[in-house]
Amino acid sequence: MNIVIAGAGIGGLVAALSLRSAGPHRIEVLEAVPEIRPMGAGVNLLPNAVRELAALGVAETLSGIGADLTELGYYNHLGQTIWREPRGRAAGCRWPQLAVHRGALQQVLVAAVRDRLGSTVPTTGARVTGFTPRPGGGVDIDLAPGPDGAPRRIAADVLIGADGIRSAVRRGLYPGEGDPRADGTTVWRGITRAAPFHGGRAMAVLGDGRWKAVVYPLATTPGADGLVPVNWAVSRASAEETDRFPAAVADWRCGDLRMDALLRDAAKAGSFPLLDRDPLPRWSFGSVTLLGDAAHAMAPMGSNATTQAVLDGRSLAHALAGHADPETALAAYDRERRPRMNHLQLLNRAKGPELVIDLVQARAPRGFRRIEDVVDATRLAQVADGYARAAGFDADTANAPSPYGLPRRPPAAA
Ligand SMILES: Cc1cc2nc3c(=O)[nH]c(=O)nc-3n(C[C@H](O)[C@H](O)[C@H](O)COP(=O)(O)OP(=O)(O)OC[C@H]3O[C@@H](n4cnc5c(N)ncnc54)[C@H](O)[C@@H]3O)c2cc1C
Repeated sequence: MNIVIAGAGIGGLVAALSLRSAGPHRIEVLEAVPEIRPMGAGVNLLPNAVRELAALGVAETLSGIGADLTELGYYNHLGQTIWREPRGRAAGCRWPQLAVHRGALQQVLVAAVRDRLGSTVPTTGARVTGFTPRPGGGVDIDLAPGPDGAPRRIAADVLIGADGIRSAVRRGLYPGEGDPRADGTTVWRGITRAAPFHGGRAMAVLGDGRWKAVVYPLATTPGADGLVPVNWAVSRASAEETDRFPAAVADWRCGDLRMDALLRDAAKAGSFPLLDRDPLPRWSFGSVTLLGDAAHAMAPMGSNATTQAVLDGRSLAHALAGHADPETALAAYDRERRPRMNHLQLLNRAKGPELVIDLVQARAPRGFRRIEDVVDATRLAQVADGYARAAGFDADTANAPSPYGLPRRPPAAA
């Protein structure tokens, strides 16, 4: 089968590696940017995604370039503990929760793709602009003109739109949809070398109901300077008062975590609007489907987007291995993944597990003596457990064998 993947982000690359294991496919990955450079900041791979990356033989490399996180804590702006929970191996999972730089993760996956699919994959400078389904199956794919200015069109049996939140493939399927949805939240993001905090393997989320800070390390072994790269994202839940960044959160402290130390270089931090997409009634149409952010871009709560893109790629390859007819396979993938992602998109829009911070802030805006006086521990546990199950990283689900087991194929170019 001739399969074209639009987009060499995490989702597209994992799909390519998974499809390589799934059958004798000819796989092309078309990436719009002329050169894949390490863009972005930190992302998290939850244990269910690490399990799938281990099946692809890349998890060990990733362990060497990221931080194995063992704790997540939610705190108010005064640094008082609302909820703490073990994560990854500390939560009884066979697989760790890894915090990695998005660019480093992408480079590891690109290297594996080149090794297994051939050194010319992915093709860069290849922007998909649209497609036309062929009568009787398959699809013609249009690309932006190349350096010679000539229009380009290629044929494929299957087109996978893994081209992110502004997906051209999604636009082809839903031409009236328009831009991603913005709720007015602004996010600033950066990486600062700072002293390890909370034992060196923790994610901390602090908030006062309006401002929020998410902080975690991208390495656990300090350098010669005693510091580690610490990823931080600060957000303001409405466009008002954004000029108060970084002062609004600079005096937040939580144990040995000090926001002022992280925000030293805040002037260099990128800021962007928080965007998501509405859940879709369908991802797969004949020979065309969507994956990752193109299918289900979600508000960044619960550190989940990259994990779900990994699972999509594995699920799709598994479906294509199990059905001779590609359209049947794409429909099976849609049935398996879309309902869960629709649910998760809506959970994240309602702040996902981080809603406990707002709940506590509304009841105890000036802090509390004991968290039990503000909110019942059972309620906090319900929110955390419910979210873990919805996203599939609870220990029972993550420790079960992969539902996407594929036959192993030798790692040679297709
Ligand atoms: C540059 C960048 C930086 C990011 N940084 C962060 C971060 O720091 N933290 C975080 O949590 N998330 C970040 N994200 C989002 C995160 O990567 C995704 O939410 C998640 O990994 C799912 O990935 P994806 O592969 O579905 O989409 P993406 O990661 O968005 O990848 C989509 C890929 O498709 C390519 N593409 C787009 N349009 C076309 C087209 N028409 N034809 C061909 N290729 C196309 C893009 O260049 C990109 O390489 C970033 C995304 C990008 C693109």
